[in-house]
Amino acid sequence: MRTPFIAGNWKMFKTVHEAVVYAKEFRSMVKDVAGVEIVVAPTCLAVHAVAEALRNSNVAVAAQDLHWEREGAFTGAVSAPMIKEAGAEFVIIGHSERRRLFGETDEAVNRKLLAALAANLGPIVCVGETLEERDAEQTLAVLDRQLKLGLEGLTADQVADLVIAYEPVWAIGTGKVATAAQAQDAHAHIRGRVRQWFGGTAAERCHIVYGGSVKPDNIGELIQEPDVDGALVGGASLDVKGFSEIVLKSQGTARPGRS
Ligand code: PEP
Repeated sequence: MRTPFIAGNWKMFKTVHEAVVYAKEFRSMVKDVAGVEIVVAPTCLAVHAVAEALRNSNVAVAAQDLHWEREGAFTGAVSAPMIKEAGAEFVIIGHSERRRLFGETDEAVNRKLLAALAANLGPIVCVGETLEERDAEQTLAVLDRQLKLGLEGLTADQVADLVIAYEPVWAIGTGKVATAAQAQDAHAHIRGRVRQWFGGTAAERCHIVYGGSVKPDNIGELIQEPDVDGALVGGASLDVKGFSEIVLKSQGTARPGRS
């Protein structure tokens, strides 16, 4: 059974204090939620404090990025073991903002993925096309390239435990959400490639979540699609009430068709 997976990416928002206030309020708002995997991703500075505030709750913590080396002269970077020790269970890798603004390549995504897995962190790996690529009918080719290079060297068991976030770049932070049908088409394609390259068990077990202007009023439609296993939520996750609503609306959507 694939349990719906809802993660909030806070990007470069919220001080440590603000993040902890949010976490405390959020944990009580979702404490009775069952059957949804819930994750928040604060800045790396707040990972430890937020993990403490969410200790023994049904909400896990993710970091937003990592460096693939364990340690070394990499000013400004943090490693997978450091993130893990700070209390995170997941890490976002290859977000389009990292790719676009920080020059992250598919090869870097792959190194980060392998480092996360080695440290027992659950990767949330992001893929998705730009508007120009969609208009040029390159969407599926872009997804293929990002997945092929990004998942290079992973075992079928590792892929089975992955969260793959399909995030069309044109839908991130723009208010332009992909239609449920557009999301389903891309997700079905991704699952098909996972099946082809890593086998049926990996394809049925891995989570493929949608990201791009998800809000309380569109999550219901998106998550009804058979291959949409949840959401990576940016802007709307900054508001504790709105994000709780997204989580609540995702309850009860694990179904045998997803097993
Ligand atoms: C994101 O940051 O991953 C994202 C999907 O952002 P937004 O929900 O704001 O579009």
